[in-house]
Amino acid sequence: LPGLHDHHIHLFSLAASRCSIACGPPQIQDAQQLVARLTAAGAASGAWLRGVGYHESVAGDIDRAWLDAVLPDQPVRIQHRSGRLWILNSAALNSLGELEHAPLERIKGRLTGRLYDADTWLRSRLKSHRPPLADVCATLAGYGVTGLTDASVSNDAPTLQYLSDEVRRGSIPLQLTVMGGLALSGARACGGVAVGALKVHLHDHALPDLTSTACDVAAAHEAKRVVAFHCVTEAELAFALAALDEAGIVQGDRIEHAAMASPELVAAIAERALTVVTQPHFILERGDQYLRDVPAAQQSWLYRVGTWRDAGVAFAGGSDAPYGAANPWVAMQAAVERRTRDGASIGLTEALTPEQALGLYLTPPQAPGGPARRVAVGEPADLCLLDRPWAQARSRLAEVRVVATIRGGIMLRSSPAPRSTSC
Ligand SMILES: [Zn+2]
Repeated sequence: LPGLHDHHIHLFSLAASRCSIACGPPQIQDAQQLVARLTAAGAASGAWLRGVGYHESVAGDIDRAWLDAVLPDQPVRIQHRSGRLWILNSAALNSLGELEHAPLERIKGRLTGRLYDADTWLRSRLKSHRPPLADVCATLAGYGVTGLTDASVSNDAPTLQYLSDEVRRGSIPLQLTVMGGLALSGARACGGVAVGALKVHLHDHALPDLTSTACDVAAAHEAKRVVAFHCVTEAELAFALAALDEAGIVQGDRIEHAAMASPELVAAIAERALTVVTQPHFILERGDQYLRDVPAAQQSWLYRVGTWRDAGVAFAGGSDAPYGAANPWVAMQAAVERRTRDGASIGLTEALTPEQALGLYLTPPQAPGGPARRVAVGEPADLCLLDRPWAQARSRLAEVRVVATIRGGIMLRSSPAPRSTSC
């Protein structure tokens, strides 16, 4: 097969998550388990603790005081599974220096320990080194992935330079496209790294100014970049459509996730010929929680895939790793089965055929949802070889092992097939 392309991933976060403690489902289900896990990790390491994957179903809206009660002396920070919130204890806050103008949440003047959407600030205060990327790239290559689109909103010119250097050093042997802020517009693609879409993050409880967002969209278009809006709620999606309408739409403008799409919003996306990049595996990984949280009438709106096909909308798949699992074969099976971990079904009419599910990862990096790449004379030699014929693979996609991955004619990985890993 052609090598797979993951159209939405967060490479640095994925690498960092490998040295982090799981703090949410399925590994951690309740407060008692979380306390035990943090206490054990704290005893084993005197240094900073980094937790990931937290969800409020575990212990509610935890804050600094909650963490202080568990680990009073050791700095700890826990990331919400959305990737947009860190919760820090007092020891962690104390180690970050002067906090008077820090973008931390305050209630009645007191720091709650919550930090929203401020990874760049946190990184600057932690002076943390970037995690090594070679191992995660090897894992991804082991799944047959030959290309990635990094969708991190914080990507800037120094990040692009760093990634280009890593490509040159051979740590990233994959085709890489980097989304990010407007600052990337002036940056030249270098070292084989392509500059991708302007990434726009939206929070439905604090949406940005519509006109200035539309100006950013227009500026990206001017710089020959498309725009990718993070939309997990209906309000975010409606806002993104309004901003695109004001700025004008170019072919390739993207909606990331489209986690909740009502029939009206589906029609609006189709009418505007937008592209959707989505994560069918969230039905498997988070579906049981969705069944508890999302009103029954709206459950069929979750992470649609079949609807995009039927509406003629260009659509493609991305892992969103580390917030979703990185293995595209598991995601393909989820797109076919539409089943949660506990075995419940969500939106069965959205199910894809195995061939359509594979197609989520076969479209070109710069045209997700466009014509699938092919194994043909004259095409780049980006290939993956499965351990079984497609006729067998299609009925048990999650069990597929890739025995060889070739990128640009160079063997990246050959058997033994990869072990399943934490990411
Ligand atoms: Zn993402």
